[in-house]
Amino acid sequence: MTNLSHIPLIKDQLGRALRDLRISVMDRCNFRCVYCMPEDKFHPGFKFLPSKKRLSFDEMLRLVRIFTKLGVTKIRITGGEPLLRVNLTDFIGDLSTIGNIKDIALTTNGVLLKKYAYELKASGLDRITVSLDSIDPNEFKLMTGGRGDLDRVLSGIDEAQRAGFQRIKINAVIKKGINENNILKMVEYFRDQPVVLRFIEYMDVGTINDWQQQETIPSSEIIELISNKWSLSPIKQNYEGEVASRFIFDDIGTEIGFISSMTNPFCGSCTRARLSSDGKLYNCLFASTGIDIKSWIRSDMDDKTIEEKIVSIWQSRNDRYSELRYLNQNNKDKEKVEMYYIGG
Ligand code: SAM
Ligand code: SF4
Ligand code: SF4
Repeated sequence: MTNLSHIPLIKDQLGRALRDLRISVMDRCNFRCVYCMPEDKFHPGFKFLPSKKRLSFDEMLRLVRIFTKLGVTKIRITGGEPLLRVNLTDFIGDLSTIGNIKDIALTTNGVLLKKYAYELKASGLDRITVSLDSIDPNEFKLMTGGRGDLDRVLSGIDEAQRAGFQRIKINAVIKKGINENNILKMVEYFRDQPVVLRFIEYMDVGTINDWQQQETIPSSEIIELISNKWSLSPIKQNYEGEVASRFIFDDIGTEIGFISSMTNPFCGSCTRARLSSDGKLYNCLFASTGIDIKSWIRSDMDDKTIEEKIVSIWQSRNDRYSELRYLNQNNKDKEKVEMYYIGG
């Protein structure tokens, strides 16, 4: 393992180091998930970013090099749908050669995974998370705004396993009234496979999805539902700051996880910075505004100055939206960045 002891950790106002960088490489998506990019708002005439406004891969690599000097060791590539970005595997290949990067992960809807699985493995990608909200083909189609083909996603997961990706994570968001009847079916389908199924509480990210409290099912209820059928035992975190609470099925010893940002926030260990595809830096998934660092790298600013500016942004960070969610009455009217734009 890389020795990182020579890198001085920069800490934010709440003592959290900067460790992870999530890069949204693409704002477009080939799905229209009801809770993320509802079809009526992201209609065929919707204007996504023109390519010139997106960061180029070279610009992202320059930024990643700077971020690694500040303590970042993990990169997650997300979107929109990251596999829509042309030459993504070349970018991952370049990322994997940057010293100090210990882990490169990808979050995808999986529909193009079959095509790219072997290339992704060869490029140096370490881990894959596939978002999949239903194991029923019709319900899946409904969840994805009429676009998702379940068989294609499942065969993408198979192909990724054949290519050598182990313990692929399957993330499922449950929206009450839409796909909650599918919870046990998903568990039944995945629990004896070499993947890790995780249920994610539906969050009040952005404003486009018109989130309502009653549409979120707390993880505790999902755990109870599953435990009534299969006995579960909690297990320890894999590493400090892991966001999922983990359980094993007592009968077969496989794992399942729950990410409970709504009912059990994990801001205290949030070491993640986020970069949007048009080069804005966000300190929190629920932030209203980002800092336009693309304008810095498209000026003649040198790396050292950019580094110092990022240090100062991180050092002033005091975000902990999820912990304060229910205390702040103004949250409902707060402007918030959208999930499709910043990635998960
Ligand atoms: N398109 C890719 C995908 O779906 O995996 C990557 C980007 S997507 C925005 C990343 C993750 O955010 C997905 O797992 C999706 O389910 C999740 N997500 C989007 N909106 C959400 C919400 N309101 N609450 C919880 N998770 C959400
Ligand atoms: Fe696309 Fe992912 Fe959002 Fe679904 S969750 S619309 S796949 S970006
Ligand atoms: Fe991190 Fe913001 Fe989420 Fe808290 S609410 S865990 S600070 S992204």
